[in-house]
Amino acid sequence: MMGPIDTHAHVADLPDVDSVVTRAKAAGLSGIVAVSASIPTIEGTLRLTKQYRNYMHAALGIHPTEFFNQDLDAALLLIKINASRCVAIGEIGLDYWHKQIRRDKIQRERQTEFYVKQLQLARDLDLPVSIHSRGAWRDCLELTNKHGPGKGVFHWYSGPLDVLRDALNAGYYVSCTPAVEMSTDLRAVMIETPLERILIETDSPVWIKSLNRPSEPSDVLLTLRHLSELKGLSQDEVEAATTRNARALFRM
Ligand SMILES: [Zn+2]
Repeated sequence: MMGPIDTHAHVADLPDVDSVVTRAKAAGLSGIVAVSASIPTIEGTLRLTKQYRNYMHAALGIHPTEFFNQDLDAALLLIKINASRCVAIGEIGLDYWHKQIRRDKIQRERQTEFYVKQLQLARDLDLPVSIHSRGAWRDCLELTNKHGPGKGVFHWYSGPLDVLRDALNAGYYVSCTPAVEMSTDLRAVMIETPLERILIETDSPVWIKSLNRPSEPSDVLLTLRHLSELKGLSQDEVEAATTRNARALFRM
């Protein structure tokens, strides 16, 4: 089936998923990658991807700002036993700007441990990773190169361009959200990144400032529109390329 794919949506956090999926299909989306962030959302994501089989695809992982009360070994086991049902490990990564991390060295070390162990699991399972790298750009890339599976996406990457270039040279993808309409940092990243390395997504239910409401997967059409305008390319061309990229990375 053709049509754009929302490659990063926290569907387990959305209300009334039935309507969300109906609107996504009406908008022409050919699929959704549902990411998780904690053990409860891993379980919720697995339930949803079973319900919307062949349309919603699971990414399982513990998020770098959601690990505080999570059991790492239990999470790794849960991911491992469901590995055949997922297309990626995510959302995982580092976040140095989160307030509980900034002032706590021990939590920062724990965050790194969660990231490294999940990267190693992704490598063992030969699955790509969906990476959150806010404020930890260089460290995040280095750990990913050292311990990861060698394939993945730097989700909503908005960091320095020298780190971006190294990530692109190492073969990673970078994803674009509706924030590309407004965010100077994301616009700079998207200008720098060749189309064959870009994925589109919403990070639903992240708030869309210009619409004054939370996002949902059908809003990936906004990402597509603003990215096409920024790149000076037709929407069809950007849609075809980003869909091809998503299908290659997630083997869908
Ligand atoms: Zn996310």
